[in-house]
Amino acid sequence: MSTEAEWSGRFGESLMKSMGTPQALLTRGEGCYVWDASGKQYLDFLAGIAVNSLGHAHPVFVDAVSRQAAALAHVSNYFTTTPQLELAERLKRITGAGPEGRVYFGNSGAEANEAAFKLARLNRAGGDRHRMLALHDSFHGRTMGALALTGKPSLRDAFEPMPPGVEHIDSTIEALERSIDSSVAALILEPIKGEAGVLDLPDGFLVRARELTEEHGVLLILDEIQTGAGRTGSWFAYEQFGIRPDAVTMAKGMGGGFPIGALVTFGWASELFQRGMHGSTFGGNPLATATANAVLAEIETAGLVQNAAVRGAQITQIIRDLDSPHVADVRGRGLLIGVGLANPNAAAIAAAALDSGLIVNAANDSSIRIAPPLIVGDDELRVFGERFGAALGAVPVV
Ligand code: PLP
Repeated sequence: MSTEAEWSGRFGESLMKSMGTPQALLTRGEGCYVWDASGKQYLDFLAGIAVNSLGHAHPVFVDAVSRQAAALAHVSNYFTTTPQLELAERLKRITGAGPEGRVYFGNSGAEANEAAFKLARLNRAGGDRHRMLALHDSFHGRTMGALALTGKPSLRDAFEPMPPGVEHIDSTIEALERSIDSSVAALILEPIKGEAGVLDLPDGFLVRARELTEEHGVLLILDEIQTGAGRTGSWFAYEQFGIRPDAVTMAKGMGGGFPIGALVTFGWASELFQRGMHGSTFGGNPLATATANAVLAEIETAGLVQNAAVRGAQITQIIRDLDSPHVADVRGRGLLIGVGLANPNAAAIAAAALDSGLIVNAANDSSIRIAPPLIVGDDELRVFGERFGAALGAVPVV
């Protein structure tokens, strides 16, 4: 058995310092639970940051990976495969992009947003469109293009200069109206800002963004990397706002733990990329696409999109019923939930939760993010209530 001193020493000596110190060494998972090297069990209400849609070691996931690995794992993009075709057709259907929709496969969220950034550069309709708009406090990934779009200077500063042309604006309708004109190529935004602590946009914001982008020939690109694949109680969050984007990026939950990302274009946006303009060695390989197909099919047939809506409302109620002085508000949709805290002690609460056998995330100083697998049921909700209540009770209100 590996002790904390042993594995954290090995981690420090061999892993790049770019990420923080890990909280535990995990050895296995099943359903909504994971276990560490000492045998301690945790209820996983983070799901690998909104990734493990079917929880851990789900038979559908295991079977899809095993079968496809035994048949054909990788072929390069000189060839296509049936899983790739099926997944592209499935994504066109569940996004509502329809027959005109087109799909590009990458391997992560950042790669999906890199493709979206390149798509935006191709929007030259009506002349010189040199501007790209994104929101303050947004998160779009850590590669240079995705980082340039990310509205957190603290993440960008060390890596300046960024690819040019990106402007960050406030999440207000006034800022949209002031900034959008025919010099803008694209507006990219998250329908709910996940990394910022699960922050909802103001009422009417997305509808106004759609109106203005349409009026001025600007691409509306929605980053649904965290909110997509059923997590918010619909396949994609934009459905709940009654709009259709020109492009949507997705990753995380669509692969259920297998790395995959995608950009799906709608309507005229599907005409922008021409042959040879973008690609990836691994993107869309049969192993990743067969797994994502199986995960999305299970989400559909097991009614997990509806489960996300129902369980999300129940978890929100459980948190409110705990009646803790720490909790100022509960935000988000479906199974992407943000707990706004009265004081900046999210790190202490997340640490106390871990002690009591519950994984949640301190998205920032005063927000706890909760994003369980979409399969959560009554038992998991009961255990969550007990362990989250214990964690809140263990931290002094200061
Ligand atoms: N966009 C959003 C909204 C995200 O939440 C994330 C990851 O947290 C990303 C992009 C980047 O995805 P990845 O870490 O897979 O590159």
